[in-house]
Amino acid sequence: MSDNEHLFQDAIRRLDRALQHANIDPEAVERLKFPKQVLQVSIPVRMDDGSLRIFTGYRVRHDDTLGPTKGGIRYHPGVHLSEVQALAFWMTCKCAVAGLPFGGGKGGVIVDPKELSRMELERLTRAFVAQIADFIGPETDVPAPDVYTNAMIMGWMMDEYSKIHRVHSPSVITGKPVPLGGSLGREDATGRGAYLCVKELERRRGWQPAEVRVAVQGFGNAGQHVARLLHADGYRIVAVSDSRGGIFKPEGFDIPSLIRGKHETRQLRAMYCAGSVCEIVDAASISNQELLELDVDLLIPAALENQITGENAGRIQAPVIIEVANGPITGDADEVLNRKGTLVVPDILANAGGVTVSYFEWVQNRAGYSWTLDEVRERLREIMSRQFGVVHDLMQEKQIDMRTAAYSVALNRLGAAISSLGTGRFFAGADTERT
Ligand code: NAD
Repeated sequence: MSDNEHLFQDAIRRLDRALQHANIDPEAVERLKFPKQVLQVSIPVRMDDGSLRIFTGYRVRHDDTLGPTKGGIRYHPGVHLSEVQALAFWMTCKCAVAGLPFGGGKGGVIVDPKELSRMELERLTRAFVAQIADFIGPETDVPAPDVYTNAMIMGWMMDEYSKIHRVHSPSVITGKPVPLGGSLGREDATGRGAYLCVKELERRRGWQPAEVRVAVQGFGNAGQHVARLLHADGYRIVAVSDSRGGIFKPEGFDIPSLIRGKHETRQLRAMYCAGSVCEIVDAASISNQELLELDVDLLIPAALENQITGENAGRIQAPVIIEVANGPITGDADEVLNRKGTLVVPDILANAGGVTVSYFEWVQNRAGYSWTLDEVRERLREIMSRQFGVVHDLMQEKQIDMRTAAYSVALNRLGAAISSLGTGRFFAGADTERT
């Protein structure tokens, strides 16, 4: 069984722990243990050599109590339905923690996009949208980018959806290029949200950035931006990695030159040999596993799920972990880390900056009015600081770990919305469903 096959079951187990600290009808929590709708599609694509390939894709709407479901679309060979369900569930909790008027959704296609030409990627994307065009919509389910999808792909998706429905519909998808209705500030929003969480800890704990050694696993959209922002504030980023491996330098890297090098060579390790990004030639090569176990002050997993497990949790030395990736720590590992006293800022809070600015994009599209970069950043800062404070206060008040506190906040908000419906619980199942 692959790690991802039981991801959803592992994810919903966390609800039970939070339930005792939350004010919500246990029956409503039972409902959250099942995704509301699951769509599986087959996607025929004509390849450049004339052959036909059929890809498999999913879109899951987990819960829409708080609003239209919202969540990214992932292109990855390891995509699994249980993983998409877990990611949709986390989106429900994340939107509730961030206080956004959205439920949780997610999508994925089983594909290695690095093997496709640009034309094949566009044909796959448009064919996928054709299959899910009746399932998504500005008021029902709003996708966004995730691993190995980007603004250009979101632009194709918006265009295809608009053609199919014969309406210009920018608010069906967020994370679009700015000229197609994307929001300023979306590109670095996830990394910036995580950075704002670090700043909140810095303020509370009196950290001196130059003394804080940071390791970042995953040097994609989220990982690069959190590293860039922390580096600019004087934090020492001593290790970074991508899917091909990592590099380590105790004095800390110059992150802007690493980002330039990564964009030029497409991989971190190649930079030694290239010699062009000379600043890092003296860095040591390390594996992704070694990076996780380094003696650092702050560990930032920003790649994929299931990186810290029951097997390696005991060897994690960092006293603070900021979960920028979704689900990088398994339930077993959580228990080990909690026993050790590791502070884990959970994914549903730490990476909520992305969906928050996606929400801003959706609002701007619907209003037909765009905000300045300063407005976006200030509103993001305000939401992240406030919600971090709510979760942190609950953690201290109840003497619980920060993940349990974040889930409790999410359940309280979902519970309040459900009980505001008054008589809803007296109507059986489907009668109470909105869409
Ligand atoms: P991305 O595709 O831009 O980057 C992913 C990075 O991870 C790449 O550098 C890749 O080389 C690296 N990687 C892949 N497999 C790896 C492995 N086994 N070990 C180490 N590195 C590996 O993706 P992203 O958008 O930066 O997303 C990263 C994580 O953040 C995901 O868990 C995603 O769900 C989460 N996230 C992203 C956003 C967003 O707005 N982009 C929002 C919320 C959460």
